[in-house]
Order: sequence, then structure tokens, then C-alpha cells
Amino acid sequence: MKRLRVIALAALIPLAACGKQASPPVTEGVTDALIANPPEGEWLTYGGSYNEQRFSPLTQISDQNVGQLGLAWSHDLETARGQEATPLMHDGVLYVSTAWSLVKAFDARTGALKWEYDPKVPRDTLVRACCDAVNRGVALYGDKVYVAALDGRLIALDQKTGKVVFEKVVVPDQQNYTITGAPRVVKGKILIGAGGAEYKARGYLAAYDAQTGNELWKFHTVPGNPADGFENKAMEEAAKTWGDSKWWELGGGGTVWDSITYDPATNLVFFGTGNAEPWNPAANGRAGDSLYTSSIVAVNADTGEYAWHFQETPEDRWDFDSDAQITVGDIEINGQSQHVVMHAPKNGYFYVLDAKTGQFLSAGSFAPQNWTTGIDAKTGRPTINPEAMYEKTGKPFVVAPGAIGAHSWQPMSFSPKTGLMYIPANQAAFPYAAAKDWTASGIGFQTGTDGAAVAMPADKTIREGARAATTGALLAWDPVKQKAAWSVPQTGPWNGGTLSTAGNLVFQGNADGDFIAYAADSGKKLWTFHAQTGVIAAPMTYSIDGEQYVAILAGWGGVWDVATGVVADKSKASRNISRLLVFKIGGTGQLPPAPPLDRLPIDPPAFTGTPEQAARGANHFGRYCAVCHGDAAIGGTLNPDLRRSVYINAPDGIRTVVIDGVLMQGEHPKGMVSFKSALRPEDVEDIRQYLIKRANEDKALGDK
Ligand code: CA
Repeated sequence: MKRLRVIALAALIPLAACGKQASPPVTEGVTDALIANPPEGEWLTYGGSYNEQRFSPLTQISDQNVGQLGLAWSHDLETARGQEATPLMHDGVLYVSTAWSLVKAFDARTGALKWEYDPKVPRDTLVRACCDAVNRGVALYGDKVYVAALDGRLIALDQKTGKVVFEKVVVPDQQNYTITGAPRVVKGKILIGAGGAEYKARGYLAAYDAQTGNELWKFHTVPGNPADGFENKAMEEAAKTWGDSKWWELGGGGTVWDSITYDPATNLVFFGTGNAEPWNPAANGRAGDSLYTSSIVAVNADTGEYAWHFQETPEDRWDFDSDAQITVGDIEINGQSQHVVMHAPKNGYFYVLDAKTGQFLSAGSFAPQNWTTGIDAKTGRPTINPEAMYEKTGKPFVVAPGAIGAHSWQPMSFSPKTGLMYIPANQAAFPYAAAKDWTASGIGFQTGTDGAAVAMPADKTIREGARAATTGALLAWDPVKQKAAWSVPQTGPWNGGTLSTAGNLVFQGNADGDFIAYAADSGKKLWTFHAQTGVIAAPMTYSIDGEQYVAILAGWGGVWDVATGVVADKSKASRNISRLLVFKIGGTGQLPPAPPLDRLPIDPPAFTGTPEQAARGANHFGRYCAVCHGDAAIGGTLNPDLRRSVYINAPDGIRTVVIDGVLMQGEHPKGMVSFKSALRPEDVEDIRQYLIKRANEDKALGDK
């Protein structure tokens, strides 16, 4: 009897597997073979090809003639938020996603709009999206276009018409998880993760059936509650690295919000994971490495089974997401060709790992950093600077690089011709302080840090020092020598992604609003187009009937604009003008004149509150408001700068917004939701007094 039961159980296993059987890979349209070997001139996946090198073999536009590049056509977008997407081109059609997860298809030659699709993402999603209403791109497979919407839906559209084929909510809950990344396609599966490690999220990467949207496999990046059992051995191992904390109560973080790279040579999928949650380990007693956060993880593409991991930032406490794009390539190390993954995450080190095993090969520091005193040459493990452990010292510490990262999602590109990686790098430090007696709340960021304690003081010298130290650079990085071959200094950080081509060119847009072509071998500036708005997205290139085009989404935004206060406009107070720009040799198109950046002056009422009231208001602002309205209440250009807001003139005004949620009412609700679950009317009055104080301080400093 006993034996029979065992047999019966064993027989069930294949049945269970059957339930997750995938539809077969497509055989027409955009197939796996086509993505693996794209026709010259097509751009079929986010990173240009499976290896995510963002290198084009096209040579018609080259260092010899790029000076004659001109606007072929442009298209104004109605979504005035950060534009981060890379367009795709197949069969003469350009597919683009924009802010708020809209998708548009254009005749790639003429710019004629073929169709457009709006998933109508609820605007209140913005309160749980750390970094603006952005979307980084679509995927093409068979006869469909896939977009992952900000509110956590995976949506398949008909390539010809833009009509919805299916849509599914794929995030565990829509209150904490959002999606901004581009889906990738592997053998009939759509791969996508989610963001949310500053809210309450347990990171994962999942594969969905391309025909039905059904989940086929899911790899969590952090373990769940051990009492519920572990999904696999990797989770059991990871659970030993979280100390005595109840990490699962907040989710643990480690979200997979950007990089997903399929490598046909190893049949592995590589992906980067985000910060451990909360940022401050002491806030919930987290101790140890907190696997698999701030890591590169490799899983089997067919099953999602764990293959290897490499943790770049053990014990993360600085929001050092490892989500930046992962590039695969073959490079020569010590006279031998090696198949490697190359990565430049937020933490400021450039890593080269063996693609098959994850073995550490080398690392080089590509930006100023003070969070380590070095890296073990054998293992790649950093030695953490004790001063950077702000929760242990009890003292605020300005960490380089900061939470924005030495390099974030802005794509880098690798030219096999020059052997160089072109990295949009940031030099932007960030102050961290541990919050005292911190507890989680029902809304907003859950970082366990004290934003008020480290807010920018109203001091001209300190501000000028911070602005001077905050810069950016386009780096041509040699991954073998682990040093820069050349670099171009930039006014500020948060510049666009790069494209390199066989025409000895590197294209990049920047925060100043210029779209520039450089010589790939020397960094010499060869061509500039003024885009009228900051550019953060990466360009791509395609060719139709022997004519090469370069396309880029322009449109300033992202987390840098909304959150970083006095340094947000380091390059330029750039108005968002969201627009698709397409160039060709001899193009003669012109942009309409740029409208001015108009905003209300800083003209606050007199401060009538008490110092205690302003201090309480500063705390509430630091915890709930700063991530969207700017450090020290110095706003960017996308969200209202509250020092200028008419709502601070009277207690009733600000209360209708923050408690009653009046801006979420009416036909076109804005993103500002009610915070009444966390703030009482008297708290809001404290915030108002703080804002009045801040506005008066800055007016006295000469800010207009
Ligand atoms: Ca993060």
C-alpha cells in the first residue's frame, strides 16, 4: 500500500509540469532565429541583440559624414514625463513606448503614425513608482508587440493594428510593485520582473507564455518567510544571510527592474537585482549579505532554475541596485578569448565575470567611490569602509557614489571594433543617515533612513560645493585593462544612454539637451543637435532601402529630476519636451521654437510657525514628500516645486490636496494621491510651515 502511494505521487509530477507547458516558439514574424541574427538594419530587441551590446554594424553614417546628419522626421508625444525607451524597428515599422506605458507604431521612413495604444495607467500609480512614470521599451515576437505597463500589466498587442491580444496583471500586488523595464523574449517566453524595493516588494524574474501570458516559471531573488518553506535550494541558502530580521515582512527587495540578458551560448538568463530592503539594515535588524540583492543572478532559460550568482554589493545599505544592463561579449584576457558578462552597476565598479560559471575575473573602479577600501582580487568581494556603515556609526555619511549610482539604467554600449564600453557615468554622492525608532508605514518609501537629517541646508557655500562635486562623464572603458581609454566630462550627471556603430561613432544625448556624435576611437565630438530638452534615453539605428537612420526619444525626467533638490538642474533647468527624433544624412527637418520654462516665482507668505513645527514638518516631508518634490523642498521640473505652490498660502489649500486628495478628482486626475493614511491634518500644517520656512530661506539666498 505504502509503495503504491509513492508511485501515485511520482505519477503526478509530470502532470503538474504539463500544466505549465509552454506554447511552442513562433515560426513566423519575429522569430528566435531572427532575434539571434537580425537582418542588418533591424533593431528587434531592447539591447539591439541578445548580447545587449547596443552596437550596430551599419556604416553608412560614419565619422566621415556624420556632420551632414539632419532631422528626417520627428513626432511630438503627449506624455510629458521622462522618456527612457529605446525604439525597435522591424519590417519598416518603428515601435516605441513612452511615459505612462503608451505604445506607438510609425512608418520608420516617413514618421507617419500607423497606430497607437494607451493602457490608461491610473495616474495614482505614481505614488508607488519611485522614479517617474517611465517605460524603457517594448518587445517584438511573432506578430505581437509586448509592453509591461507601469501598473503591473503585461500586455500583448497585434503588431499590425495595435489591438490588445491579451493583458494580464503579472505583479504580486499593484500597491507596491510597478514595471518600467522592457520585456525580453526567449523561446516562446516573455521575461519581465518588477520594481518596488523602496516600497514592500519581494524581487523576482518570471517567464510568461508569449501566446497566453500564463506564468511558466518564476525565480525569486530573496527568500520568503522560512515558515512557509522554500521554493528551492537557492532560497534556503539565501535565508541564512539575513540575520535575525523578519525581512519577509517588508518583502526584502532585490527587485529585477531593468537588466535581463539571454545568452544563447550558455542558455542562461542573466539579470541584475536591486537593493536590500529597507536600505538601513538596522531598521529591521537585517544583518549579513542579504542574498541575492545587489547581485547578478543566472538562471536556466527553460526552467528558471538557479545556475550562479555574483553579489556586487554585500550588505547593501546605500540603494546600490545591480539592475544596470548586463552585456555579454567575447574579449581577450591574457591572450585567450573569454565569453564574459560585463556590468557597470550603481556601486561604481566595472565587473567582468565568466558567463558560464559567474567566476569573478576582474573589477575596476570607474567613478570616485568611498564605500569600500578595496576589492579582493580573487573573489571580487569588497571590503566595506566602516564609516560608510552609517547605521553602525550613528553618524550621517556622504557616500560616493550615491543612490543615483555611478551608472544606472541608462544603457551603455560595447563596440567589438574598438573593444571599448561606452558608459554614461555619474559623479553624484548622497548623504545617508539612519532613522531613529523607525517603523514601516502604509504609504511611500520604506528605507529606514532619515531624509530630514541630511536634507540640503540653506547655505550657499555648501550648496555650491555640492553642485561643483556633482558631474557626469561619457567614459570609453577598456574592460580588459579596466581603465578609461578616453572620457568626455559633462556638465552634470543623468545623461542619456549610448549607441555605438561600425561607422566609428558613439551617439549620446545629454542632460544639457544636446544629442551628440563622438568618434568611437578618440572621443572627438563630431556633430551636435540641440534637442531643446534633456535626453536620458538611448539612441538606436536602423536602415531601410539602403538608407540609415538614427532614432532617439528626447524628454527630460526620471528620478534625478524629481528627487535630487539643489543639484537636479546641475546641467540645465530642462523643460520636458517629449519627442521622438529621427535623423538621416541630409535631413533638413526643423523643430518648432522651444517654449520657455515658465514657473511661478518663489513668493511665500511670512513664516508664522514655531521652530518645533517646522522641524516636525521637515521630518514628514523627508519621509513622504521629498522623493517626488525634491530634497529640502527644491523641486525639479516635472512635479510641482512646493516652494512656489499656491497651496502653501493657506492651511485649507494644502489640506484639500494632501488629506482630501482633491488633485485625484475630476476627469484628468493628477498623480498626487491623499496621504491621509499616514498624515493627520496637523501634520500637514507642520509640512506647510516647513515649506514656508524653506521658501523664505531660499528667497533670502536669492533664488527666484
Ligand atoms: Ca533601488
